[in-house]
Amino acid sequence: MSESSASGVWFAPGRVNLIGEHTDYNDGFVLPFALPRRAVVTAGPAAGPRSRVRSAQQDAPVEFTAATVRPGDVPGWAAYVAGTVWAFREAGYPVSELDLELDSDVPVGAGLSSSAAVECAVGVALAGMSGVDVGPTGLARIARRAENEFVGAPTGGMDQMAAMHGRAGQLVFLDTRDDTVELVPFDLAAHGLDLLVIDTRAPHSHADGEYGARRADCERAAAALGVPALRDAGLPEVETLTDDRIRRRARHVVTENDRVRAVVELLRSGADPREIGPLLDASHVSMRDDFEITVPHVDVAVESARAGGAVGARMTGGGFGGCVIALCETGAAAAVAGAVEKAYAGHGWEPPVVFPGIPSDGAGRLT
Ligand code: ADP
Ligand code: MG
Repeated sequence: MSESSASGVWFAPGRVNLIGEHTDYNDGFVLPFALPRRAVVTAGPAAGPRSRVRSAQQDAPVEFTAATVRPGDVPGWAAYVAGTVWAFREAGYPVSELDLELDSDVPVGAGLSSSAAVECAVGVALAGMSGVDVGPTGLARIARRAENEFVGAPTGGMDQMAAMHGRAGQLVFLDTRDDTVELVPFDLAAHGLDLLVIDTRAPHSHADGEYGARRADCERAAAALGVPALRDAGLPEVETLTDDRIRRRARHVVTENDRVRAVVELLRSGADPREIGPLLDASHVSMRDDFEITVPHVDVAVESARAGGAVGARMTGGGFGGCVIALCETGAAAAVAGAVEKAYAGHGWEPPVVFPGIPSDGAGRLT
């Protein structure tokens, strides 16, 4: 790699959502935080005429031309990189051909947003290399555009905003209607608490189709209620919806928005974070019964974590697998993890992977 002054090392983290599931495409509220697991990008000017990207987690490098690359040009994993280059250029910022190496310890497909970590790490690298100040929200929008329009995944903007705005010891309270961000203190250690992230390693099934179906249900509910988005609906109106499935979908979104705001108020007011436990539990019940996005691996993890002493537990992420989070007393963390492992063994399932969820810094430059 060239030793140009534009070379450097940048990173962006994966994220966990504390609460606020399937609210982002309903103009609602989410409350994620950045994880200590990260995608790291080493980048500099290209040695050859074209850009070349390599991932430590993939076999072969991929080449494309940064000056002209368009959606459809680059398939597979490199689309997340090339798409960010494309969106950065489309936003009017200068790009030159680059050599880029990617290495990430964010697990892929676990619901921790390894994709946004890659996009945002590439985004901060592009901004750093060209010396322009795009700002965290600007880069998050570029990264989201890469995912939506280049990769072709119709996701909301939470993942990229969390990867860009995260801060150690803080939650990212995001209003997805206007992308305003407020940091909310979440210092669990000071209260003798831990937040466990439990990767259920459930086989993901039908997640894409189900996601689209949930979005369509939410749009139908909003249209039936005559509101621009479910964020604008209240529970009494939702209860008047006559289609049972549409009513339950809308009820999840409306009550989930209320739970996000309740968690924020509690934490902001300096309440004991244990008080958010019942809201985490209620969020899970709502996802299980009203939104119907949980699967047995996830429900068993939540139930066994609670039986093992967790103060509150819920699935996090889009559903149909992925991770569960469990809030627990620091002294009980091993027992909670052990209870989930034992329940999984009882079902003959692969053991879950459990690690601490520690709110960490968002994207930036390492060297
Ligand atoms: P997630 O929930 O982890 O974001 P996605 O399906 O949205 O799952 O994104 C995962 C995809 O992102 C991978 O299939 C791969 O294409 C890309 N990706 C993530 N991390 C890496 C990496 N370290 N190297 C190459 N590609 C990666
Ligand atoms: Mg993703």
